[in-house]
Amino acid sequence: MLVLGIETSCDETAAAVVRDGRTILSDVVLSQVDIHKEYGGVVPELASRKHVEVISMVIQEALERAGVNPEELDGIGVTRGPGLIGALLVGISAAKSIAFALNKPLIGVNHLHGHLFAVFLERNDIQFPFIGLVVSGGHTSLYHVKGPLEIQLLGRTRDDAAGEAYDKVAKLLGLGYPGGVVIDGLSNGTDPGKLRFPRALMENDNLDFSFSGLKTAVLRQAEELYGQAGYKNLPGSFHPLPVPHKGSGVDSGVKLIAAAFQDAVTDVLTAKGLRAAEMYQADKLVICGGVAANRELRRKMNSEGIRRGIETVFPSPRLCTDNGAMIAARAASLLSLGMVDNLDFGAKSRW
Ligand code: ATP
Ligand code: MG
Ligand code: FE
Repeated sequence: MLVLGIETSCDETAAAVVRDGRTILSDVVLSQVDIHKEYGGVVPELASRKHVEVISMVIQEALERAGVNPEELDGIGVTRGPGLIGALLVGISAAKSIAFALNKPLIGVNHLHGHLFAVFLERNDIQFPFIGLVVSGGHTSLYHVKGPLEIQLLGRTRDDAAGEAYDKVAKLLGLGYPGGVVIDGLSNGTDPGKLRFPRALMENDNLDFSFSGLKTAVLRQAEELYGQAGYKNLPGSFHPLPVPHKGSGVDSGVKLIAAAFQDAVTDVLTAKGLRAAEMYQADKLVICGGVAANRELRRKMNSEGIRRGIETVFPSPRLCTDNGAMIAARAASLLSLGMVDNLDFGAKSRW
């Protein structure tokens, strides 16, 4: 089964061809990070415009690299939501056009289910049920994945997503955008125990998350270290950083804050992910979404998972951030169960 997957929910224009929901034949991702960087976050209107500009090219490239003729496709999967409405509509329109022109089945995919299904692209030994933790820029959600059609939400963030917290903290520390990878780099080799930030909602059976208090605690700490309105006037080369992701020229106080922040986030994610696996007697915890690229999270999950007898599974970093292959994988699972959509569906930005 050959499926074309199309993803435009946020700031990546992506398309991929996947065989049998398992084998990536091509995977083209065009990131808009450089466009949104100077605004410190994704600007929805700019994202939509860029998607429109490049979507045909990205799809064409995916088909060419796969060596697949569009007529050979068994179906087209596209992200239907959640995401930015204008951005989603670009992918959906493209997918509908192709499906209509070639008379192929079309499947609207939930982006978060796509993140979960990325795991099948690298592992053919994953069986249902498992616990899935999606940690991304817009979501922090725990699922009991009982089967392809039984994906039960167990808990989610009540305020900021983990990736959003990374991005906001990086911004307030003047570290640039997107923040996750910068904080990941700065924390590497920095003592996370010099400062201590709160871990929210840690009571026993609570599977929800909250990161906005942590973000505020980080702000207070930065103000304390650098003066009330002064954390923006940090010494020397701090603003802007020359090569932030290499950690050069960053004040050591900032590094301590970054590392302690990351320690708090990864503690909470690790504790709750593994707790869910124990509560639902699952032997595997799949961690996906952009924040799953984080090295400290991987380290903690793996060592704590081994201790508790739960296998923690991370897709490789490229499949953790947004891509078309995960959408194709999810679409293939639905298509093989006969789940096809009509051509008249709309975007579900808050799905
Ligand atoms: P959603 O999937 O919720 O719609 P999104 O698609 O924007 O949101 P992703 O592309 O899956 O999210 O992930 C982007 C997020 O991952 C950003 O917040 C980014 O800071 C974070 N991120 C990326 N790499 C790392 C890393 N190494 N450590 C921590 N966070 C990271
Ligand atoms: Mg993104
Ligand atoms: Fe995503």
